[in-house]
Amino acid sequence: MSADALFSDAVARAVLADAPAAHAEHLCCRFCGSDAAGTRECCLRVAERHAVGRTWTNFRAVCCRRCYRRGVTLERARLAATAWLWAWAVAGPALLVIVVQASGAPLDTAAVAAAVVVGFVAPVLLYRAFAARRMAALLGTDRDARLRRRAGVTGWGVTTAFGFRPAVPPREMSAPLDGV
Ligand SMILES: [Zn+2]
Repeated sequence: MSADALFSDAVARAVLADAPAAHAEHLCCRFCGSDAAGTRECCLRVAERHAVGRTWTNFRAVCCRRCYRRGVTLERARLAATAWLWAWAVAGPALLVIVVQASGAPLDTAAVAAAVVVGFVAPVLLYRAFAARRMAALLGTDRDARLRRRAGVTGWGVTTAFGFRPAVPPREMSAPLDGV
């Protein structure tokens, strides 16, 4: 290898080594516009549940730590609501059976039946309202609607899975959030 080739190879490596740091300084959060420390590339993924599995739609974006945390909090709230619904699907009817066997009074039964229904409906409605507000705050109302259309999801309910990840999962396709 000639001296020139060695030199250009060394320069290329030095440029590549410096590139991420220099690039990171100018990253700007696509959700809130912040360029605070820790702002980095991330992946917002969305999926509606199908009969068999899910098909994720990935959007590449740049995200500050605060927006990333807000997205992760919403993801955890959905998982908590889903876990509650599964647990209540067992506990709710069991509670009703216990009350019917112990008391049998129509008023007690009706009250517990109403509580069982509320136990199913309340988390769904509360999560939907929370998710709609937070996603509109993160994305803006117009981009929120465009993103949902693009990902093929009707709304931010408990059946609409989404997540924030540090990077696009391996072997999955992605599109830039800027194009949405
Ligand atoms: Zn942000």
